[in-house]
Amino acid sequence: MSLRLRLFLSGSALAVFALPAFSALASSSYVPDFVNLPETAGIYSVPGNSRLKLRVFVHEPGRANPAKPIPSPTPAPTLNCTLTDPDSASVVGLTGWSLPAGEWTYRLNPSSNPSLAAALPEIAENSFSAWTASYSSDLGDSVSFRQVSDTTAVRATYDGQNIIAWGRTSGSALAVTYTWYYPDIGLAVETDTIFNKKFPWSWSGGSTQCAYQGVYDAQEILVHELGHWFGLDDEYTSEFVDNTMFGYGSTGEVKKNTPASGDFSALNSLY
Ligand SMILES: [Zn+2]
Repeated sequence: MSLRLRLFLSGSALAVFALPAFSALASSSYVPDFVNLPETAGIYSVPGNSRLKLRVFVHEPGRANPAKPIPSPTPAPTLNCTLTDPDSASVVGLTGWSLPAGEWTYRLNPSSNPSLAAALPEIAENSFSAWTASYSSDLGDSVSFRQVSDTTAVRATYDGQNIIAWGRTSGSALAVTYTWYYPDIGLAVETDTIFNKKFPWSWSGGSTQCAYQGVYDAQEILVHELGHWFGLDDEYTSEFVDNTMFGYGSTGEVKKNTPASGDFSALNSLY
């Protein structure tokens, strides 16, 4: 698809779907010290660039499954292999951007989560592939993703690098994703995801049936966060409970490893 056509479609999607969500969120400015970015969900003005906006997504645990910090001593998690992966046709909302056509590079911070360091490249690759490899998604035809050299950053910063790292996030947030984007042309320019190192993380190898109990599956949560990178919004009502873009995370769960048909429907309207 040509860039011009993509821009047109992005603009159309912005006008049709995203404006109500924008008006529902307060827009305010953050202090431009490029260290202390906001950790409250919302849309923020970026000082010094009147066209650019920052959208912050905060992934919270559901009320029925509150997050607990890592216990000490840490018990060995047990693997539950009786899980199911129900589909959902509920179409999730759009954020008002897509990723520009071409190559989108990302950096990992393996040292920020030593127990998952060796697996992190595969976790990330699986998570991108969950969205790009589907027969129903054209995302992989328009945007390619390439891991480049690791980062040591543990905070989101507007620095031209798209990072995935564990760090300190406020309160009970499981992960916070930051996207800098231009609403007028409907394109993202940078995306960072920071997982909260306060909570227990594990990885079930990308399974859709098996998850370690009492811990968050890194791939499952990353697939959700990447949905934001691509331009998909959070949904919080019960009809979306089986969508990857359901806004609450749970321990012992992997069904979001594979986006639901309603997640792909939204993606396919962008790419
Ligand atoms: Zn989210």
